[in-house]
Amino acid sequence: MDTTNDNKIAGTLLYVEDDLDIQKLVIHMLAKKFPQLTLLHAENGKKGLELFSTKLPDIIVTDIRMPIMDGIQMIKEIKALDNDARIIVLTAASDTDFILDAVDLGINHYVLKPIKIEKFVAAIEQCLESVNMERRLRKQNEEIRLMAYYDTLTGLPNRQLFNELIHMALAQAQRHNHNRLLAVLFLDLDRFKVVNDTLGHSVGDKLLQAVAQRLKQCCQRDRDTVARRGGDEFIILLPELDSTQEAVKVAIKIIDAFAEPFIIPDHELFIGTCIGISIFPDDGTDGETLVKNADMAMYRAKEGGRGRYHLYNQTMDAHASQRLTMENSLRWALQKGEFILNYQPEVNIESGKIISIEALLRWQHPSLGVLPPKQFIPLAEENGLIIQLGEWVLHAACTQNKAWQNAGFPHVRIAVNISPRQFQSHKLSDIIENILAETELDPCWLELELTESVMLQDMDTTIRTLRRLSDLGIHISIDDFGTGYSSLNYIKKLPINTLKIDQSFVSDLTVNSDDAAIATAVINMAKSLRLNVIAEGVEVVEQVKFLSSLNCQDMQGFYFSKPLPAIELPQFLRKPHWYNKHSKSAVIH
Ligand code: C2E
Ligand code: MG
Ligand code: MG
Repeated sequence: MDTTNDNKIAGTLLYVEDDLDIQKLVIHMLAKKFPQLTLLHAENGKKGLELFSTKLPDIIVTDIRMPIMDGIQMIKEIKALDNDARIIVLTAASDTDFILDAVDLGINHYVLKPIKIEKFVAAIEQCLESVNMERRLRKQNEEIRLMAYYDTLTGLPNRQLFNELIHMALAQAQRHNHNRLLAVLFLDLDRFKVVNDTLGHSVGDKLLQAVAQRLKQCCQRDRDTVARRGGDEFIILLPELDSTQEAVKVAIKIIDAFAEPFIIPDHELFIGTCIGISIFPDDGTDGETLVKNADMAMYRAKEGGRGRYHLYNQTMDAHASQRLTMENSLRWALQKGEFILNYQPEVNIESGKIISIEALLRWQHPSLGVLPPKQFIPLAEENGLIIQLGEWVLHAACTQNKAWQNAGFPHVRIAVNISPRQFQSHKLSDIIENILAETELDPCWLELELTESVMLQDMDTTIRTLRRLSDLGIHISIDDFGTGYSSLNYIKKLPINTLKIDQSFVSDLTVNSDDAAIATAVINMAKSLRLNVIAEGVEVVEQVKFLSSLNCQDMQGFYFSKPLPAIELPQFLRKPHWYNKHSKSAVIH
């Protein structure tokens, strides 16, 4: 044994001895041999026991025969408190019975009086070695516990520890007869992936560390827990609340705190967050449900835009499961041929001719009936299915237009709506070119309706794609114009043919002076840019007159025709003069 090393192991030794002369000698010897040890002493078992319970010494050295409480009794009581207590008995050789009793009680060593110093020192050293071993084990255990319970990057509790903490907090809350509330906040970072992808993972890691710090500053009560769930997701446990409002306050505090940039070496990053909140007992009585519901509420918060919070409510469950069912059936709908196109003409009231026919998508859902696009296009946008779906629409619309042409009807353009995500996909121009070749439709009979959001995308790519499509002879329109963000500068740069004034301005045109002013401005702007302008959503004759007075002759809307199945279109196509300007009525309603 390396005694020099063991000699240095620090700790506390309690020496219990009623013979004060011996006690003095032994203490003196111990202080010399083990200067690193803190030495405690007592003159009977009772006092020894008291010191043991208050000072928790690492080693106990004790005599046996003592007044008030003897060594055997003290050892018994110490062992009852701590079975691993290290005990060395110092006793006279004549006390054989006592020695046997002590050995039975599980002492580590006994040393006979008169004390042989080497034997006594060796016994202490062995005890110290075992103290050392235990400490090492405890440290390793602690390290393992840290790894198992804490996130190594941020030092925050991880999901595992969070689960245990929420379990305990819920048990406590339940004991309080639901008088006190408990909140779970679920949040993630907006655009974290972009930071990681563009600035690299080490910047991403530093950002997460900074976020962890900031979150901790926002939750300063000792009992609050900020945990990292993984990736850029954090969960916060706020136990012992009196009202939901307290949780909302924390959420607002966090959102406000995120308004400040995160300063990490060489970067100043603005990053937002959305927060979902669930409350015990209303939104769940177990940790898993509360976290799941807070997560769901976070998604709802995100739908509202950046930097928002949302409280969970039960209708979300219904909403989420309905959405899931919808999403599943949407995946199969294309294969099952459940989509159809309706067609709505666009007319020039001056000539009375159809100038274009817009293809509008419908889903013939097996149980829900015919669904309009707003019930499934956003979902298809989100899960990417819009790319395939949009391709199907383009193909079906071009095929239909070619079929009308082959049947001998006057040629008109077919207008197809293109969603932003579809436009972003790099292959859009290739896909369209292939479809045109396959269906043998001349590109001049195809019109694409894009929304203003295309202008929010990378301008160079947008211009390149649009130029390529326009060079093919395809007609380009901006749909729902006036609702987006397009600036005149952008519009001037793009090869656009037509602006479609959004129906929201048309609907109140004749009664709301603001709408009239916007419609007038758009019409004038379009004219000065030499663009065609068409008003959509025209429902009543007053609107027709008003628009006509503003020199906007191209219109679309229920006043002329609702979107119709392909089979009903020939009745319009056949008629060269569709709208009779003089009788001021549509030929067919
Ligand atoms: P949009 O392209 O602006 O289409 C016009 C919408 O207004 C159509 O609704 C049409 O039925 C409706 N509408 C037409 N005239 C009137 C009217 O006089 N009054 C009123 N109140 N409404 C009128 P729908 O068919 O429900 O389509 C809604 C939107 O869904 C479309 O708006 C378009 O953005 C999108 N959409 C439709 N089909 C497709 C498609 O194939 N692909 C993509 N990406 N989006 C599509
Ligand atoms: Mg449209
Ligand atoms: Mg529109």
